[in-house]
Amino acid sequence: MSTDVKQPAGLADSFDVIVIGGGPAGYPAAIRAAQNKLSVACIDEWKNRDGAPAFGGTCLNAGCIPSKALLESSELYYRLHEEFAQHGIKVAGAQLDLAQMQKRKSGIVRGMTQGILALFKGAGVTPLQGHGRLLAGRKVGFVAHDGTRRTLSARHVVLASGSAPIELRSAPFKAPYIVDSWGALDLDAVPKRLGVIGAGVIGLELGSVWRRLGAEVVVLEALPDFLTFADQQLAKEALRHFKKQGLDIRLGAKVTGAAVSGNAVDVAYTDAKGEQHLSVDRLVVAIGRRPYTKDLLANDSGVELDERGFIKVDEHCHTGAENVWAIGDCVRGPMLAHKGKEEGVMVADLIAGRFGEMNYKVVPSVIYTAPEIAWVGLTEEQVKASGRDYKVGVFPFLASGRARAMEQAAGFAKLIAARDDDEILGVHVIGPLAGELIAEAVLAMEYSASSEDLQRTIHAHPTLSEALHEAALAADKRAIDSLNR
Ligand code: FAD
Ligand code: NAD
Repeated sequence: MSTDVKQPAGLADSFDVIVIGGGPAGYPAAIRAAQNKLSVACIDEWKNRDGAPAFGGTCLNAGCIPSKALLESSELYYRLHEEFAQHGIKVAGAQLDLAQMQKRKSGIVRGMTQGILALFKGAGVTPLQGHGRLLAGRKVGFVAHDGTRRTLSARHVVLASGSAPIELRSAPFKAPYIVDSWGALDLDAVPKRLGVIGAGVIGLELGSVWRRLGAEVVVLEALPDFLTFADQQLAKEALRHFKKQGLDIRLGAKVTGAAVSGNAVDVAYTDAKGEQHLSVDRLVVAIGRRPYTKDLLANDSGVELDERGFIKVDEHCHTGAENVWAIGDCVRGPMLAHKGKEEGVMVADLIAGRFGEMNYKVVPSVIYTAPEIAWVGLTEEQVKASGRDYKVGVFPFLASGRARAMEQAAGFAKLIAARDDDEILGVHVIGPLAGELIAEAVLAMEYSASSEDLQRTIHAHPTLSEALHEAALAADKRAIDSLNR
């Protein structure tokens, strides 16, 4: 079914704001600009596998949403086999219906992406499906999917062109055998053996999906350490759980080649022991993403890229070219949907002459594995390196009545606070619904709360949120529900 939007006859050629890119950075920018009573068009060129154009970018079509749909389904399947008996629930004959699992995922994606069109309609944003290119003087060349060309103009242009997966020269993509994350979300059968290159966020999330559904999963990570960007106490705990779940994570493994042979992929890599070989049925390459700016900028657009290909911007996402802004994955900072969204909202407010600011110090990170991993602020390693004296409180979910009732008592909540003024510097959670729990820490840090502020805040019992409360108390050795060490 085509979801192509019919362009209204007599469409305006001139707008207050044109946003190029309709992902989680671009579409909120367009909506907020329209809320600010500006005339807005949002141009997006995304097409799904069936050729249907769709707003929502990587996140809604091939990233956050489809991956979370499959994570949820595969987690239920895993728990049904591994956990239900513990609850006293016997299930006989439960079977995997992968086609239905994929159908559910696609339905969620379709609903969410069509929802953006409804939001645009409600807010008064003009959706334009096709390619956008910034020309000099804030003119925008637009080529609709049917080939129709027009030159539009705007008082302000917001670039939100996103990112694309990095290809590994030694293991080039070759569908359906060697695939990127989008390909890994669309497998139509559970591979017996799945290889994943990169133990980053995508490698762990998608490796977990297919492991839970029965694949033997080997993850090859070039670095000698695990989750180097996370707090290392948390990383160690995570590695322990993933190994227990059967994820075979090989660190210090540098891939030197991958070739399709028959129906399998032969992967060659080197590690501390020398040359190694691995044969898998499917190989997922997840070694990071790069900014995507193909055919986005005319030579005289006035916008510059940095040495890594990101669009150069200041702290307010202004590019330096008059009234041209850039947000989301195509600019510096973490490649996260919520970071792009807030940048979009900030820019749309600044354009309208309102207040707008991003607090890059409190952008939460979540890895949607089981147990879930989430953090905000500094890791203990970063605090130590800063030289500031600090205290740490840790509360294990084993001591949480709610976590035990849920049969999810793995992991801990950890809070780091400054010794001098008690400011919360970082919070790291591995455990049930960590991604939801971290919101309290984000809010606390946004308001510059102290650990005492959290200690004096009443948390409902029995809830998982008590773990954060107790971690704050533990920082002053005043925890009630766990031993103070
Ligand atoms: P994109 O979402 O990439 O959107 C850019 C849009 O611009 C695309 O539709 C593209 O087609 C369009 N475009 C580009 N150039 C042009 C042009 N010249 N003309 C017209 N249109 C153009 N982040 C999270 O925060 N949480 C998660 O759980 C999460 N899970 C992820 C899972 C996976 C498998 C992947 C791959 C990513 C995940 N991410 C997640 C990252 C998240 O998807 C990105 O950070 C986010 O999509 C970036 O938003 P964006 O709007 O900057 O770019
Ligand atoms: P990543 O940067 O998270 O991880 C890439 C991993 O690959 C790193 O551990 C890196 O050391 C390793 N690597 C790099 N080159 C390698 C090589 N040649 N051989 C073996 N290992 C190698 O990148 P990703 O997992 O591809 O994710 C891309 C982006 O998407 C991330 O920035 C992430 O923020 C975003 N994302 C976020 C979420 C989430 O928020 N839950 C989920 C998925 C993706």
